[in-house]
Amino acid sequence: MSTFSAKLIHWQKLHGRSNLPWQNTRDPYAIWVSEIMLQQTQVTTVIPYYLRFLQRFPDIESVASSSVDEVLALWSGLGYYSRGRNLHQAARLIARDQGGIFPRNFEVIQQLPGIGRSTAAAIAVFAYGEQRAILDGNVKRVFARCFGVDGYPGERKNELLLWRKAEELLPESYEGNQIEIYTQALMDLGATVCTRGQPKCMTCPLQQDCIALRNDCVARLPVSRPRRPLPEKETVLLMLMKQGEVLLGKRPATGIWGGLWCLPEMPVGEDAIAYCMQHFGMKVKPLAHMPPLDHTFTHFRLRIHPRPLQVVSYPAVMQAREQDETMWIMLDDALEAAIPAPVRKLILQHGYPQSGQLPFEKQR
Ligand code: SF4
Repeated sequence: MSTFSAKLIHWQKLHGRSNLPWQNTRDPYAIWVSEIMLQQTQVTTVIPYYLRFLQRFPDIESVASSSVDEVLALWSGLGYYSRGRNLHQAARLIARDQGGIFPRNFEVIQQLPGIGRSTAAAIAVFAYGEQRAILDGNVKRVFARCFGVDGYPGERKNELLLWRKAEELLPESYEGNQIEIYTQALMDLGATVCTRGQPKCMTCPLQQDCIALRNDCVARLPVSRPRRPLPEKETVLLMLMKQGEVLLGKRPATGIWGGLWCLPEMPVGEDAIAYCMQHFGMKVKPLAHMPPLDHTFTHFRLRIHPRPLQVVSYPAVMQAREQDETMWIMLDDALEAAIPAPVRKLILQHGYPQSGQLPFEKQR
């Protein structure tokens, strides 16, 4: 066993995490769900979503036989909704092509929607004990610092170098769950010791080997993505209220908030009252002003101007439209639907203006 993997395995046994809800199982489905939720999201955020998801969808069949809306409803607030859509699509493919049994073959796992090389490897390690290298964001950070990789890890040549390192450093022994412990150690070290800000180098099992620590460049590595200022966009979201219900519309499957239920959008600068009459045939009057809400996506920043409006009259012709792409829904129920995080915030602000929070039992 290399010194590197031996040190990490020893550290994991003493200091690593061992009681996360997705640990101590060989169920590939449960491991798969956790790995997808953990992409771009921290453990503490994921845990309650994971527990709710597994309770509602205990196996692949239960996901495959549900609508994407039902899956996204439990994803609501977790962000990066394409993960939920891909999970649903992958479950349907497994149900159709693999008899509902999660594939055993690494190449097949890697071809499922939403599963890249590192996620497939993590599933193969934890479910099947395969000797596979992972390279998620945390591991890239550990390797970039420990081996002094002085370039943006997202750049092809640096990424290839990191993958080569990841492959070389795997433990050689196949005995005693070494690969599972080693893989978990890398994840834990990146999440709890070699963190992005203020890494705890003095407690790190790799401190003797770490090039970044030796060269005093821990804070600079890994090198950040070359910065371009994020473009800024604006939009107006209409909060149309009728007897405690709010109007939601379903977004197209692609684009931001794809497939989620959202407040109707209106171009900036239009008159909301005239717009509602023209587009929905509704007579409305303004409700109390709400301040703008800023939301950052990966590629742009969005300033949302909410427009709360009371519906005064409501045409029968609207009924037909409701059936396919819009719905009136009570505020409390809207919070249980597949809605994006900013819409959730606006509903909470509008419906619970004092605290901005739901009564305890309704909080997520
Ligand atoms: S010594 Fe510090 S920078 Fe190096 S791997 Fe450990 S925590 Fe990260």
